[in-house]
Amino acid sequence: MPTFLSKSRYIAGVQCRKHLWLSIHKPELCGEPDKKTQQVFDIGHMVGKYARQVFDNGTLIEEDHLHTLQAIQSTKKAAESSTPALFEAAVSYNRLMCRADILFRAGKVWDLYEVKSTTQVKDIHLHDVAFQIFCFEKAGYRLRKAMLMHVDSSYVRHGDIEPKKLFGTDDISKDVKLLTKDIEKTAQQFVNDIDSKTCLEIEPGSQCTDPYECPFYEYCKKEPEPYSIYELSRGNKVIPKLENIGITSLKDVPDDFPLNEKHKKQVTAIKTKKPVIDTAAIKAFLKTLEYPLYFFDYETIASAIPLFDGSRPYQNVPFQFSLHIQKKPNDECEHYEFLGENNQDPREPLIEQMLKLIGKKGSIVAFNATFEIQRIKELARDFPHYSKDLLPFIPRFRDLIIPFRNGDYVHRDFHGSASLKFVLPVLVPKLSYKDLEIQEGGTASLFAELWYCGKMNETEWKKTRKDLLKYCKLDTLAMVEVLKVLYLSIGK
Ligand code: SF4
Repeated sequence: MPTFLSKSRYIAGVQCRKHLWLSIHKPELCGEPDKKTQQVFDIGHMVGKYARQVFDNGTLIEEDHLHTLQAIQSTKKAAESSTPALFEAAVSYNRLMCRADILFRAGKVWDLYEVKSTTQVKDIHLHDVAFQIFCFEKAGYRLRKAMLMHVDSSYVRHGDIEPKKLFGTDDISKDVKLLTKDIEKTAQQFVNDIDSKTCLEIEPGSQCTDPYECPFYEYCKKEPEPYSIYELSRGNKVIPKLENIGITSLKDVPDDFPLNEKHKKQVTAIKTKKPVIDTAAIKAFLKTLEYPLYFFDYETIASAIPLFDGSRPYQNVPFQFSLHIQKKPNDECEHYEFLGENNQDPREPLIEQMLKLIGKKGSIVAFNATFEIQRIKELARDFPHYSKDLLPFIPRFRDLIIPFRNGDYVHRDFHGSASLKFVLPVLVPKLSYKDLEIQEGGTASLFAELWYCGKMNETEWKKTRKDLLKYCKLDTLAMVEVLKVLYLSIGK
């Protein structure tokens, strides 16, 4: 039996034809989906289920992707009945095959609804729907409209999820029509790619992450040359000029080549192999700190389906914090933390704990503080009875990323980045996330979401809770140690 071009394969081809070829001929190269990818699939399924509840009495075509021919038969039968809607309807046309999330009967024609867990229509969704429209029309279905259902970010949960309020719907019929003209040609090209014995030579580039992270990236990627011109932060104007004169390494940039101040410092740090430190600027930053210092960091969940009353889709809901308090310069720090034991809304107990631990005076130090400040504003909005205590925290925030983002402390091994992920291993090599089970915020968020939406059992949570505490503690300890290095850099 020939290999079909399904909707997901068509989308893979739109992103990159090498991706399509590899997914057919070398699927083993992308490995099993990790927990994060699995969670994205699960969320998609959950969103799909809620979307179906918007349409009453529809018929679900139950057969899965391993039973496509039966699914096509069941779709035909259900379409001939009087069912008002079809869910997961399946059709094929020549070598093309697809399923539609929802077909809604409108007299003798159908409206096609595609459900996405994003909050707005994206270009790739139009390709996705255009492919479906093409397949269904070729299979004999008369379609009237193409609609995209997406999560409405202004929805606020109160009690059970209300599917009719959770979704926004856009009529994308016109945009899709423009694309359907080319589907036949493009689809034929992709079918040829599927049949080809050889893979197209395509270099990794922006297509590897846009519109989706390609699962073959580990296979395709090339190790970047260290100190390459692509490390210049915000270098989109200067990089092409360097490319034009054949320069690929920052070590080779001529001394008289026009660069902005930050780029000059980066090149100097690379050429001299010494950090470039603006002591006056660092002193000025350190002068803004008022003791006691509260090194503070939140971890958050941003779920497509709001988990708690009063929260919105994709709202960053804080569920954990770590706090190191240093009363005087050079004092040992005291450590405090919050992470709920049960899977109830963590926000009120978290606020209570913050208010208990953070005194009325002193700077609150965060790395990329706008994130923490925004969460505090949202907590004050959602729990107005705490707002008079929470909002005064905001002007007390000091952002430890500033000396690095401003180029006041530049090290060649930051590779043009100011993020803690790059700064910490260089300035404080003894501290590392490498040995931790949870090594970055995205994973912390994912595990917490599994717990709060009831997909993690108590035993797993006990272990995960310990891992989360270790991870978040390291975030604030890292700030304590980075600050020490800044003081040392000015001789204190
Ligand atoms: S990693 Fe990039 S180049 Fe490789 S298949 Fe994926 S999109 Fe194409």
